[in-house]
Amino acid sequence: MIDRLKEILTPSQVNTDPEDLYDASADRYKKYAKVRRVLDVPLPAAIVYPTSAREVSKVLAFCNDAGLNVIPRAGKTATEGGLENWKDNTIVIDTLHLNKILKIDTYNMQATVQAGVPLQQLEDELRKEGFTAGHSPQSKPVAKFGGLVATRSIGQFSTLYGGIEDMVVGLECVFPDGHISRIKNVARRSGGPDIRHIVIGNEGALCYITEVTVKIFRFYPENNRFFGYLIKDMETGIKALREVMVNGFRPSVARAYSEEDAAQHFYHFHKNKCVLLFMAEGPEGIVQATGQAIEAAVEKFKDGIIEQVDSRLIEDWFNNLNWSQKDIDDEMEGMRENDSHAGFTTEISADWETIPKIYNNVMQRIKAEFPRAHDLTMLGGHSSHSYINGTNMYFVYNYHIHCAPEDEMRVYHHPLQRIIVEETLKLGGSMCHHHGIGKFRNEWTKDEHGSAYYMLEKLKESFDPNGIMNFGTIFPQDEGKKYQQ
Ligand SMILES: Cc1cc2nc3c(=O)[nH]c(=O)nc-3n(C[C@H](O)[C@H](O)[C@H](O)COP(=O)(O)OP(=O)(O)OC[C@H]3O[C@@H](n4cnc5c(N)ncnc54)[C@H](O)[C@@H]3O)c2cc1C
Repeated sequence: MIDRLKEILTPSQVNTDPEDLYDASADRYKKYAKVRRVLDVPLPAAIVYPTSAREVSKVLAFCNDAGLNVIPRAGKTATEGGLENWKDNTIVIDTLHLNKILKIDTYNMQATVQAGVPLQQLEDELRKEGFTAGHSPQSKPVAKFGGLVATRSIGQFSTLYGGIEDMVVGLECVFPDGHISRIKNVARRSGGPDIRHIVIGNEGALCYITEVTVKIFRFYPENNRFFGYLIKDMETGIKALREVMVNGFRPSVARAYSEEDAAQHFYHFHKNKCVLLFMAEGPEGIVQATGQAIEAAVEKFKDGIIEQVDSRLIEDWFNNLNWSQKDIDDEMEGMRENDSHAGFTTEISADWETIPKIYNNVMQRIKAEFPRAHDLTMLGGHSSHSYINGTNMYFVYNYHIHCAPEDEMRVYHHPLQRIIVEETLKLGGSMCHHHGIGKFRNEWTKDEHGSAYYMLEKLKESFDPNGIMNFGTIFPQDEGKKYQQ
């Protein structure tokens, strides 16, 4: 198999280094077990580095004929097990050499990149010319376009610019049988269903993304305005966010933090209160109008507002929010040294009315039911991506690990996630707002989609009839249960 891959590509494009294979066997979901070197999953057989869609096509067709599992990989920042391997003889197809910015077109306001271009690299190029991609997940320095599109990622300025699905104009992708599809770049069309959405969010379970064209935006950093408030409770925060959104305004950032979560983010000013914050950006007139709308919303709910925070504190906080590869590596080392897990998250979404109910139910159930509640060192959450009809909730939890390293997920994270997912689905929300389903929420994929799961299943059957694409991701598999439980 390895020899054949070396013939299809070149020997230097096929990596079987044991340490690299260990790294490729899991992502950040089991990062504690990974850093403690107790992972219980098979190593992939090889990592390959194609240089073109044509080469991806040849590798996929070979794997499809041979029945070999394939894991597409880009920036390696996945958090939900999308990169975890559950099969022997798996081939990881890495975007390393698909690394070119192909075109920045400032007249038609779009940029085309290969799937292995880090978002930060495109953003740096755009900024030189006064533009921005508008996409800014916290993993921006490391995450690459293939992964960003495959996970339906969202950035910190999403309330203005939208999620990646609002930015992708067209793309190129390769299916397991080797077929290369190009979805053309047009401003809008009504040529049947929007097939971009079969690819966006497929998490490597349907096809391999090789190229992406995204919208770009004019950047006006000189107009940025920041607003911060200490508030009485989360309900006030959610109401103020809603007020701004339903009145038709689009601040780039609109967030409400529980007091527990605020304490870890805003330790220098939170005073044990919840925090509400906004950022307005864009052309001057829009920023002014958005700022007035934010102040009007705060005035409307003034009974719940305790005090305004110096806007420079909010601005400074934003300027230091993104994680480099070093931050990611240091975090893992810290886990090894401290036997604790900080900042684990489960992100869900629902309408305005339902979000506070989910939040309260989850808090009550975890405190009442979670057997390791005494090991929790933090439990809270924040809303960070709002829409006219609802918002997300990012549940955040830290805990001391008092169990065998290989049991951490089973003992701590999974029971917490189960409560969050169950309460969300019970009240009609979505169990995953932007990290994807990966391999560890797949037991609820059918509940998430209900009768529409029929459509999702048919896509898998049609595009990946041999089931070679990222086994266990999105779609539940009995064989994978041993790695989940
Ligand atoms: C510190 C940190 C902060 C984060 N902040 C955010 C945030 O603000 N917003 C957010 O949305 N996410 C965030 N994430 C999660 C993660 O960064 C995103 O899911 C990101 O989109 C993954 O991109 P990647 O290039 O690292 O993909 P990878 O981790 O390499 O892969 C992710 C998934 O996409 C699939 N995939 C990768 N490349 C391809 C391809 N070419 N074709 C098909 N499928 C492919 C993989 O199989 C896998 O299932 C954060 C993660 C970290 C570690």
